[in-house]
Amino acid sequence: MAGEPQADCLFCKIVSGEVPATVVRETDTTVAFRDINPQAPTHILVIPKVHHPDAAALAAAEPQVTADVLREAGAVAADEKLVETGYRVVFNTGSGAGQTVFHAHAHVLGGRGLNWPPG
Ligand code: 5GP
Repeated sequence: MAGEPQADCLFCKIVSGEVPATVVRETDTTVAFRDINPQAPTHILVIPKVHHPDAAALAAAEPQVTADVLREAGAVAADEKLVETGYRVVFNTGSGAGQTVFHAHAHVLGGRGLNWPPG
């Protein structure tokens, strides 16, 4: 059923604690943890605890949780002192755009200059 944990989903396993992660923030609806392969000095993933395959599916099914993810992305940026220098929040959507884990997640990237357009 939509939103239910998926046995084969890495990020559902991070939510449950089955796979360890360096968690930096947690709420009733979200978890934020450091990316295992950071692409910037700060690279943190913010995920909903519910399982949806990407950000669009999450937004369609759970608008409040989507807002929680965005709020937590901003809180992560503040905790990491990225607000002054700027940071990027990215939702890769679809394998052609680089999505490799099909559980919705926001990347929060900062701590270095970020080019536009992204590659
Ligand atoms: P995507 O490519 O789907 O947009 O982002 C998935 C992210 O998950 C990648 O940046 C990747 O480095 C990260 N990742 C993959 N496996 C793990 C893991 O086991 N632990 C953590 N903390 N991050 C992971």
